[in-house]
Order: sequence, then structure tokens, then C-alpha cells
Amino acid sequence: MNLEILLAKEIDESKQGDPLSIPTSEKLIKKMYIESYGCQMNFSDSEIVASILQKEGFSTTQDITKADIVFVNTCSIREKAEQTVRKRLEFYNSIKRDKNPKMLVGVLGCMAERLKAKFLEEEKLVDIVVGPDAYRDLPNLIKEVEDGKKAINVILSLEETYADINPVRLGGNGITAFVSITRGCDNMCTFCVVPFTRGRERSRDPKSILKECNDLFNDGYREITLLGQNVDSYLWYGGGAKKDFKKATNKQQENCIKFSNLLDKVAKVNPLLRVRFSTSNPQDMGIDVIDVMAKHNNICKYIHLPVQSGSSRLLKVMRRGYDREDYITLIDNIKQRIPDCAISMDMITGFCSETEEDHKETLSLMDYVKYDFGYMFKYSERPNTPAARMDDNIDEKTKQRRLAEVIEKQQAHSLLHMQEKLGYTYEVLIEGNSKKSDNHFYGRTTYNSAVVFEKGTHKIGDYVMVKIEDCTSATLKGTVL
Ligand code: SAM
Repeated sequence: MNLEILLAKEIDESKQGDPLSIPTSEKLIKKMYIESYGCQMNFSDSEIVASILQKEGFSTTQDITKADIVFVNTCSIREKAEQTVRKRLEFYNSIKRDKNPKMLVGVLGCMAERLKAKFLEEEKLVDIVVGPDAYRDLPNLIKEVEDGKKAINVILSLEETYADINPVRLGGNGITAFVSITRGCDNMCTFCVVPFTRGRERSRDPKSILKECNDLFNDGYREITLLGQNVDSYLWYGGGAKKDFKKATNKQQENCIKFSNLLDKVAKVNPLLRVRFSTSNPQDMGIDVIDVMAKHNNICKYIHLPVQSGSSRLLKVMRRGYDREDYITLIDNIKQRIPDCAISMDMITGFCSETEEDHKETLSLMDYVKYDFGYMFKYSERPNTPAARMDDNIDEKTKQRRLAEVIEKQQAHSLLHMQEKLGYTYEVLIEGNSKKSDNHFYGRTTYNSAVVFEKGTHKIGDYVMVKIEDCTSATLKGTVL
């Protein structure tokens, strides 16, 4: 799922995670400030970074002028995300120049590998550059830069999953949390930079996942989202890259744990713990996963299933590993087993060679599926991807027009789904205060629909039954029964 930018994720030390791992307050003498951009994986990674540095005496601050170190956790997925990060780096440097000259500036995540030389040597915008698999090295890198050396580690790993790291929950509501289960991606879709920035796919030890989910529940959390670029491809056979599974021993192969097995175990942590997962790749989502979803009430009836295009021809150019018919069959299977399941998608318009006919197929697929929600983008070329060697031949105006048509259709479908819910009553997990009114809470249904309602005597973390009385295309409004 794509949160195209946004939010600085920061907290003060009073909100930080596992009390057992927190050094005494006297030891938390240095301050870090972290901003995260891009996908949920990046937000989750920032929590790992905060945990690694907490052990080194760093607490987080929301005041950049007081930070000893500022990090931006970067996204490379689209050109726009990169531009945003560059602007933030320029802003940090202005703070450093005018108010906080001793502050170190670090770049984390997906932009690290590609822009290391540019940021560090050419433009001198940053002091530290760290790729997504090298966060354990941060304490050494900080020392290196303090000793006047260049601090850089962008080495990708076949094993690193940060399984033993207990993330510091940043800026959260204390109710919903991300739990990372896989890293990297082997899919090599032609448009996508992820395999180059995040490396090969590997899965995290299920024991550590279950422990994290149990700990979260005991700490009052009521919803976890299992995270990975391609969660349905989860495969634990004792550790190591997914591509090396065929080299594993017979015993390892026989005892392997697939995503459906993991999902089943996580759902059993506690019936009051809601379970979500993201992202599913259509080529890897099996019937076994849908059946496990149907079996457990606490697995939310919502699947994010990026499609990218409705045209089989274009899906082949994108190297997605499924065609329009396969995708429709998967949707039909979901609807047959879980008739009320909400489905959302990612869509790209204006990919290399997309014809008007291809675009119409995208619109007609949307009419068939009637997605509850969509994240829609116009194609932007990413360096080093296979598509960068193709002709990016759809002009900007056409890309934009097709995107507008896709968005308009999605908004109509989203509104339809919301209107269908009027008059019905749904269970809602209260996640926090409504942004628009102090008298209202915000929560979500199993279908991931946002619901706003008067607070009454309820509290954050409660499950309440809400009768829906009004809606927009994005939000339901109702009354607690
Ligand atoms: N792993 C998921 C998948 O491919 O099914 C999500 C990957 S990515 C983090 C999120 C979304 O960004 C993709 O699903 C795609 O719609 C969009 N995206 C990726 N590369 C893009 C590009 N070069 N131009 C425009 N959108 C892109």
C-alpha cells in the first residue's frame, strides 16, 4: 500500500516502547529526529532504526533544532517521492546552518544506494548514508562520522530481517502496529525499483513474528498489519533468501511455513487482535490464504491487491506474472469464499506503450471488480529498472488524462461502497480522535472503511458497534449503538 508521503513520524521519549529495553532516562542523552516517506515498510523500518539507536542512548524528538542527528527515511518508488526527500534535505541543511551546526544529517532507505555519491560527496547534503539492510551498523557509522570519516553502508543482505529487534513504536496510537514479515522482492516487475533498492526476498522467523504480535497484544494493541512487499510469498525454511529454497534440505522443505500457515498462527494469538496484511501480489495469492481469512473472524475482510493494468498485453510488458483472466479468477475466488470482502488496488497509467485500448481495458476491469479503494499513479521512469530501457512513449498530457479518468471512476466506486453501508451496523475498532472534531472518535471497520462517530463514554482501543447514517466517498459517519 502506498502512503505517498507524508507525515513526520516522531515522538518524545515518554512514549517509547518496550520498558525492558529502554536505557535509564539518564542514559538517553542524545536526540534523534526521524521523518519517513513512502510505503509502510519505510515507516516500519524507522521504528527499527529508533530501536537500534535507543540502545545507544538516543531518544526521539519532535523538535529538529534540538536533534543531535536527523534522519530521512527515503522512498525511490516514484520520481515525486525523490523530489520531496531532496527538498527535506535542503531544509535540514538550512537548520544546520542557521540553528544547529553540530547536527548530523543521515539518509536511510531506498534512495541510499542510488544517490550515495551525489548526496555525500558531490552535494555534501548529508553525513551518513545507510541502506535498508545496514541499520545495525548505524552506531559504528555515527562514530565514524564523529571521527571525521565518511559514513556509508548500503550493502544489501540475503539474510537480514531484523527479527530480534523490538521496534520502538513511533508516533503511533498505541492500538495499531506494523509487523514486518518479509524484506526485499524477487518479482522484478519491469517498472519497479524495489528489487534494486531493497534486495532479494527473505522471510522472518515466525517465532519472532508471533512473539512480537503477542507482546503487542499484551501492551494493549488491538490490530497488527503483517508487512512485506509481497506477503503472500512468505516462506520460512530456517532462514535465507527465498531464491535458495530449492537448495534447502528435504527436511527444511517439508517443514517450511507458508504465508497461509503464518496467517493462521497469527490469527490465533488472540481473537481480540485484528489482523491485516499488505501487500498481496496477485501472482502469489493462493486459495489457502483466502480460506484462512474466511476461517478467522479477526482477520480483516480486506485485501489490497495491486493490479497495475487491466490489459493482459500490458501486464506482460510489466512482467507481472498474471494476466487479466488470472486476476479476474482470483477476484471471483475471493468473492465466492468471502462475499463481503473489500478489495483495493494500485494502478499505473501511461506505462510504456499503453494504448487507448489498454486503458479502456483498465477501466472495464475496474467496472468488473468495483474496488473499494485505489492508489493510482501515472508511470514515472525509475533508473536501472528494465522499463528504463523501454521507450517511455506516452506523453505527459495523456498519462495525466488517463490517470484522471481512473481516479474519477474509482471515486464513483468508492462512494457506491460507502452508500451501500448506510443503515447497517458495523463493528469498529476505535483508533483515535477524529481530525476534524474533538467530540468524535475515528476507527475502522473490518473492510478498512474509516468511521467517525460521537465519543460517548468509549475509549481508544474499544470495539464498538456503529450504525452508519451518512457518508462521503472516504468516510462513514454514524452513531454507537
Ligand atoms: N509490491 C507491490 C506490488 O507491486 O504489487 C507494491 C509495490 S510499490 C511499493 C507500490 C506501488 O507503486 C506499486 O504497486 C505501483 O502501483 C506503484 N509504482 C511502482 N513503481 C512505479 C513507477 N515506476 N511509476 C509509477 N508507479 C509505480
